[in-house]
Amino acid sequence: MLSYWERESFSHYHHIVVGGGIVGLSLAIELSEQYTGARILVLERGLLPTGASTRNAGFACMGSATELLDDLTHASEDDVVALFAQRKDGLELLRKRLGDERIGYRANGSYELISESELYAIDQLDYLNRLLLPVTDKPAFEEVGGMQVQFGFDQASVSTMVRQTCEGELNTGKMMRALTDLAIQRGIEIKTGANVVRYDEEEQRVAVTVEAQYRKEEWPLSCDTLSICTNAFTKSLMPEEDIVPGRGQVLITESIEGLKIKGIFHFNKGYYYFREIDGRVLFGGGRNLDFDTEQTSEIALNQLIHDDLDHKLATMILPGTEVKVAQRWAGIMAFGSTKQPIVKPITDRVFGAYRMGGMGVALGSSVAAMLAKIIKQRWP
Ligand SMILES: Cc1cc2nc3c(=O)[nH]c(=O)nc-3n(C[C@H](O)[C@H](O)[C@H](O)COP(=O)(O)OP(=O)(O)OC[C@H]3O[C@@H](n4cnc5c(N)ncnc54)[C@H](O)[C@@H]3O)c2cc1C
Repeated sequence: MLSYWERESFSHYHHIVVGGGIVGLSLAIELSEQYTGARILVLERGLLPTGASTRNAGFACMGSATELLDDLTHASEDDVVALFAQRKDGLELLRKRLGDERIGYRANGSYELISESELYAIDQLDYLNRLLLPVTDKPAFEEVGGMQVQFGFDQASVSTMVRQTCEGELNTGKMMRALTDLAIQRGIEIKTGANVVRYDEEEQRVAVTVEAQYRKEEWPLSCDTLSICTNAFTKSLMPEEDIVPGRGQVLITESIEGLKIKGIFHFNKGYYYFREIDGRVLFGGGRNLDFDTEQTSEIALNQLIHDDLDHKLATMILPGTEVKVAQRWAGIMAFGSTKQPIVKPITDRVFGAYRMGGMGVALGSSVAAMLAKIIKQRWP
């Protein structure tokens, strides 16, 4: 039961965006730049965004050597280079939009730990550098053998290391706060606890139904354009989409005195990643250990992965160092039959941008900019 005032002032918007993660917020900001004075609303079902954007590791990444070589076994060179470029452009846009200081951006280096069975990748670095040169302007990869000793990694597990020259790191919490603050500053309304249960396209508008839990009723909204930025959860609104959820698990240690590592690190085709933050080690991954169980949108920990992360942390990353885990969490990513994000018009009034995979921090801004352009073409 809406009041007269609620119906008059809070039910129609020019543009509604579903999903308050990095893609949804970035899109809302793009739309506010594109349509001055338009009423823009972001609907987020969690109290905070509750998927991946506030739960990730803060790698501003584009792809490690073994991951890109693996991608090239499933995708064309053109597709792999185009996706790398999209991630690179997205990171540049994010840094420009919010500023390095506000997002805690640091270029402390990005490295891959190469095991003995992955030494084949070293012979492929020149090939990767040539392939990516039109996008990177400088060689993207170089072997930095010996760095594993400097960082104190277990030398039986790490044969050599590769440095990636385009990646950096940021503080995910600061970045999401800065994005939220900017959206609010631009006059964008953000409603949390607003679960969109369906939408119906009508002749002159899109009707959007939100479940308002506290009032135990459905809340009708409408808009000229609706954009769906719900990543792993898109199938609840669009069951036909090629999206498979993938859970990611992370831990962070207590502060470690004399910690040697700095920068961001990947290994095993990007399935594992760790970094230094606030004098602690943040370590995550291991989804490949139990793919079937991890194809879920339930935010919970997996004991097998929990134990594997602990083991690798103690024996490979910080051998001989006493460490205590301070906190663990999980988040949900979106994958599909290809790594390409989906960015498209669904109808004349409904649009979508989702399936960010494991690199949405860098990719999110460029995907949002692409969708804003598509909307502008339809709605000049
Ligand atoms: C553990 C972990 C570590 C990661 N590490 C990195 C990393 O280091 N670097 C990197 O680049 N990427 C990383 N990622 C991936 C990255 O975080 C994602 O690709 C990115 O955040 C996706 O952003 P998004 O806005 O598309 O999705 P999300 O952040 O998931 O946002 C989608 C939002 O939609 C909301 N929503 C869904 N359905 C509805 C509905 N019906 N109504 C209203 N709201 C709805 C959800 O609550 C959610 O907040 C990681 C992910 C995880 C889980």
